[in-house]
Amino acid sequence: MDCIFCSIINKDEHEGMIFRDDKIVSFLDIRPLSYGHTLVVPVAHYTDFREMPADLMADYFAQLQKIALAVERATEAHGFNIICNTGIAASQSVFHLHYHIIPRYHDDEVFKRLNFKKYDHSITMHSYAEKIKKQLF
Ligand code: 5GP
Ligand code: ZN
Repeated sequence: MDCIFCSIINKDEHEGMIFRDDKIVSFLDIRPLSYGHTLVVPVAHYTDFREMPADLMADYFAQLQKIALAVERATEAHGFNIICNTGIAASQSVFHLHYHIIPRYHDDEVFKRLNFKKYDHSITMHSYAEKIKKQLF
């Protein structure tokens, strides 16, 4: 399979490698939104978050938190974003499940222009809550 993250995982060396065990690897993003921008990736190939097996979650999120705290301390960041782009519409570009850890600083303007919507009487918050509740199974 032609997957850039599988090739990184299967190589011995990566300049930006941070962590590796039998389930999870973590390395620096080649195109950082801020220095220290880190990816946390399962060793096994899953296309995206939708495919993540439940039995991976405990280990995966424990490592994600541990690595995020290390990134924050190492970069002396004031906080961080944890992002998992899922699907082309959500800007996913590598189709091997991964989370981004992006160090953030006060007023760094990394995500400058977000287009927030408003609920109102024609598009109500309640109608969306109901639609989503019906899909929980
Ligand atoms: P996505 O857009 O799928 O959420 O994120 C994929 C990320 O992988 C991007 O931020 C991109 O910069 C990073 N990336 C793509 N190719 C490589 C690579 O060869 N090496 C590393 N270290 N990161 C990569
Ligand atoms: Zn892969």
